[in-house]
Amino acid sequence: MSTIFTKIIEGEIPSYKVAENDAFYAFLDINPNAKGHTLVVPKKEENKIFDLDEKSYLNLMQFSYRVAKAIEKTVPCERIGMTVIGLEVPHVHVHLIPLHTMDDATFSKKEKLSTEEFQTIANEIAKNLCLT
Ligand code: AMP
Repeated sequence: MSTIFTKIIEGEIPSYKVAENDAFYAFLDINPNAKGHTLVVPKKEENKIFDLDEKSYLNLMQFSYRVAKAIEKTVPCERIGMTVIGLEVPHVHVHLIPLHTMDDATFSKKEKLSTEEFQTIANEIAKNLCLT
């Protein structure tokens, strides 16, 4: 059965997309630690990040780097944090989180955003993106 992230990538479930290429898809986390919290996902389903082959892992890091740069340009913050967990959704994803305080990195404090706020921030990150 497809993961929820595959359903998002295939457009069966809506998402606030910020970036896409042939191998990766980036979209806003629906329950963000902070405004601009983004997930970067390989289109090919794999459960655990270190089960990726080395080239796919490095490509994921490169794509995440580019998305992080765009988030940094868009969202005022101390820095962009990066973490990989995967205990909730068994489909590799990198969390890119604009950090203001340590709380933003803990996954205990959540930000409530309206549909309009999600859409606006996704559009702004997408505008600041340079994929090459
Ligand atoms: P984890 O697997 O523990 O790294 O966490 C999975 C993350 O995916 C959580 O931060 C969720 O808020 C996020 N998430 C789950 N479903 C969706 C969805 N439909 N759209 C966007 N983000 C989601």
